[in-house]
Amino acid sequence: MGGRLKVLVTGGAGFIGSHLAEFYLKRGDEVYVIDDLSTGTKENIESVRQACPGAGGRFFVVYDTILNRDKILELIGTCDLVLHMAAAVGVQYILDNPLNSIVTNIQGTKLVLELCDKFRKKVVIASTSEVYGKRSNDGNLFLETDDCIYGPSIKSRWSYAAGKLMDEFTSLAYHRVKQLPVIIVRLFNTVGPRQTGRYGMVVPRFVQQAIRGDPLTVYGNGQQTRTFTHVKEAVQCIVKLAEETRAVGQVVNVGGVEEVSILELARRIKKMTNSSSEIQLIPYDEAYPQDFEDMQRRVPSTEKLRKIIGTAPKLSLDNILADIVQSFKQSALAA
Ligand code: UDP
Repeated sequence: MGGRLKVLVTGGAGFIGSHLAEFYLKRGDEVYVIDDLSTGTKENIESVRQACPGAGGRFFVVYDTILNRDKILELIGTCDLVLHMAAAVGVQYILDNPLNSIVTNIQGTKLVLELCDKFRKKVVIASTSEVYGKRSNDGNLFLETDDCIYGPSIKSRWSYAAGKLMDEFTSLAYHRVKQLPVIIVRLFNTVGPRQTGRYGMVVPRFVQQAIRGDPLTVYGNGQQTRTFTHVKEAVQCIVKLAEETRAVGQVVNVGGVEEVSILELARRIKKMTNSSSEIQLIPYDEAYPQDFEDMQRRVPSTEKLRKIIGTAPKLSLDNILADIVQSFKQSALAA
């Protein structure tokens, strides 16, 4: 590609998207963002502008939906690389917006792929560890080749996993049939500054609850586990994958190293914030609508990622949490 790159970040006012936009602006590239502000915010865009003083002339933001064909056609036509981060995300958001989230995640991605193909542009598609569904893997790490196991369609949570899996199928089909350069990243519980707890995400919720002295709301018995990934490490991996020829046509896990139960996560956050909050166990049927099903375990194998880019996220959970706690405290002071 060489020289200054023109990068389109769909969902660039969102959590991961805004960190990607910031990375490329700091590197001296031109960044174009399209975001409908469904879960993204103008504050995120403002934070990017503040973090990149002097980059205003290289930063272009459009507030619109990725379903607007004319707009997305113009943007993809302009850019060299497309990072498709726009999606309906967050368990709470998916449960509250069951129809919109399917349309955005399936039709939106289909349109991005169709137009990337029209202009022959390289595209990175954001997928998720959610696609593994409710497999628990008996202590093993999740491999990209593992089966995906879902619940029935009456449990609407699975629509997110199924939608993202359909995005993966469509991307791979574009690659196989039309040789479109696509890279699919399965992101594992990405966390960090700018993430909001509004749509369910557990880490910002617990940190905010702990700082305010409110109870930390652990759902179920808290024995379910996750592996959290710092957004800055996820961004480094996405950027490297986008530059690596061997990543084209591949599905790659991007995830952290430390599996933790949600109860232990609550304890660590309480300790780290010196909070007097109590830890409350809340049954699932009080936390979520009826028929909700949680995933019991999620741990990535990052072997494939390491083979392709030579590295993988390695920050410990305490390091990740310390960064988030600090940024919450800073924004509380600034407010
Ligand atoms: N969770 C929780 N309390 C909350 C929010 C979430 O115990 O206030 C749990 C949730 O049930 C799940 C885990 O934390 O087991 C991670 O939830 P999140 O929505 O962050 O991500 P995902 O379920 O998509 O991994």
